Amino acid sequence: MTFDATRLANAATTALRAYDPGHDLPALRKRFGPTIAELGSNENPLGPSPRALEAMRRALAESSRYPDPRGASLKAALAAHLGVSTERIALGNGSHELLMLLAQCFVDATRSVVFSQYGFAVFPIATAAAGAQPIRAAALPRMHAQAPFGHDLDAIAASLRADTRLIYLANPNNPTGTWFDDAALQAFLARIPPDILVVVDEAYHEYVDAPGIGSALRFADAHANLIVTRTFSKAYALAGLRAGYLIAHPSVVAVIERLRESFNLNHLALIGAEAALADHEHLHAARAYNASERSWLVDALTQRGYVCLPSQTNFVLIDLDRDAAELEAHLFERGVIVRPMNGYGLAQTLRISVGSRAENQRLLDALP
Ligand code: PMP
Repeated sequence: MTFDATRLANAATTALRAYDPGHDLPALRKRFGPTIAELGSNENPLGPSPRALEAMRRALAESSRYPDPRGASLKAALAAHLGVSTERIALGNGSHELLMLLAQCFVDATRSVVFSQYGFAVFPIATAAAGAQPIRAAALPRMHAQAPFGHDLDAIAASLRADTRLIYLANPNNPTGTWFDDAALQAFLARIPPDILVVVDEAYHEYVDAPGIGSALRFADAHANLIVTRTFSKAYALAGLRAGYLIAHPSVVAVIERLRESFNLNHLALIGAEAALADHEHLHAARAYNASERSWLVDALTQRGYVCLPSQTNFVLIDLDRDAAELEAHLFERGVIVRPMNGYGLAQTLRISVGSRAENQRLLDALP
């Protein structure tokens, strides 16, 4: 018999499929050259802070040393920035790693994890990887005025079971772009028993400017079971470095630290993230660009008859009300890369990142 290690995988891994990474972008860059429009991964078209780049250039020569396993300098900068103590911060190789670690640390086959039907794709993966039971709470309906396909906090609260230990929320959510306000979160938290951890994934937090929404961090003192995850991948434009963090009760951080790989953030990521955090002008520019460019893009798409869901992020979900595969393929052939949503069960939608003006114009020009 030929060797097949898939038979040897443990129960949790047997239930998993490999993460769908989307298109092979290095190959597509070769194929389309500079005319490609990369609108599939919600990256920041402005690029990293020049101060972060300079700091990393200087730090390159230190690459023979292991990075600081405590990430002390970045943590101190984050603590000052957020007004929390360093013992409430854990660093991750992207926030993706932290979302995975939370499930690995706090749930197992005897526990269930609740998330919204169209919640961020890593939530079900983290749940399955830990061997826990997923509970998908029905999303808000397609015709919902403020948050079509968004998180229904009532449905989430109603789907808790006695064995539930973890809830994943994303605010705003990927791929829907939708959000809920602080008052709704406050009311939700009041309904959740203290032994259930509530993770609020705020990967797109820095882009948010809708009234009534700030950050879940407002409620951290009142709710020790609240965990907030953030990232340097989006507004800070450091997706390639892999740097994220979470803010939680010190005891949550202490548990995470037991499983966290000691050098999970490499030296350049630690240095680059800290310098990016200090570059307020660059963050401000990224926010301002995204707000105006998203509105320009939404207007242009709407004029062409596309329905754009409300978004507080650096992407827009368009709802075609018919299978989107044909449009995706049409754009793809013209070097415009957007993200199909079949994996989410939203095959009638496409997710389009807010790119540079040139990329967005290429998208508009390529539309049938
Ligand atoms: N949460 C959400 C909602 C996201 O969209 C993403 C990135 N696509 C992440 C977390 C993970 O980002 P990273 O690992 O780069 O921090």
